[in-house]
Amino acid sequence: MPASRVFILRNPQFGTCPECKKTGTLHRSRSRNMFEQIVRGTTFMKPYRCKECGWRGFRSTFIITRKSARNIVFYIMLIAITAFVARYILSRFVSV
Ligand SMILES: [Zn+2]
Repeated sequence: MPASRVFILRNPQFGTCPECKKTGTLHRSRSRNMFEQIVRGTTFMKPYRCKECGWRGFRSTFIITRKSARNIVFYIMLIAITAFVARYILSRFVSV
């Protein structure tokens, strides 16, 4: 199963700043409040700060490519079909 291809790991520290468009200026920032801690703990988003212009915000550490989005749809459909078949089998063998 090509599960590892669904998400592609990306390090925003090597990416470009959304404000000044410079490359390699972002570095990890500490969470300032509860909201940021929750976002950091529950999503792939992590707080970053730009050394050049002082921009601060969340950047994703994962990217989903067009191909991987198709994989996700495929897996969701597979789960849905499996659930449907399982329910069908159960309804046939478990008499009401
Ligand atoms: Zn910047």
